Amino acid sequence: MFKRYVLLDRDGTIIFDKHYLHDPEGVELLPQAVEGLKRMQGMGFGLAVLTNQSGVARGYYDEDAVHACNDRMTELLAAEGVHIDGVFYCPHEPKDKCNCRKPKPGLMEQAAAELDFDPAQAFMIGDKSADIGLGKNTGATTILVRTGKGAEHESKCGRRADHVCDDLFAAALYIESLM
Ligand SMILES: [Mg+2]
Ligand SMILES: [Zn+2]
Repeated sequence: MFKRYVLLDRDGTIIFDKHYLHDPEGVELLPQAVEGLKRMQGMGFGLAVLTNQSGVARGYYDEDAVHACNDRMTELLAAEGVHIDGVFYCPHEPKDKCNCRKPKPGLMEQAAAELDFDPAQAFMIGDKSADIGLGKNTGATTILVRTGKGAEHESKCGRRADHVCDDLFAAALYIESLM
């Protein structure tokens, strides 16, 4: 029996989207993030983060900065009792034509291989059309949250998403309604 997973975007979904964030001091959890993630965890889901970090390829910051911000986020969540099983990121920019920049499927494939879950049984939650695209490309159930750029992206991909809601707590209630 595989554990089921909820995959989450980082910036604008779990933490505030600060333009090309690279300072761990700037990592700040969004309202309702802890409550939502706790509820998903309580339903038995594993949690992992899939994030595009093109600031690396663009030379704005290095991979150490990405790790420092990811670690700060997982520490803040751990302090609230939320365990993140893995954080996977794409350091490339569009012109690199990699397979891991969302909406390409690479990050989901890496996470599924490492954590041993079926993407078709998973949920993908994010605030941008690339997150919804990644979920659609890998067979996951997709949820657009209106935090971060979500309200802006709703006109672009709201209809493509399986569900649209205000934040991670509302997303957890939607997932619960499907169980
Ligand atoms: Mg985002
Ligand atoms: Zn990539």
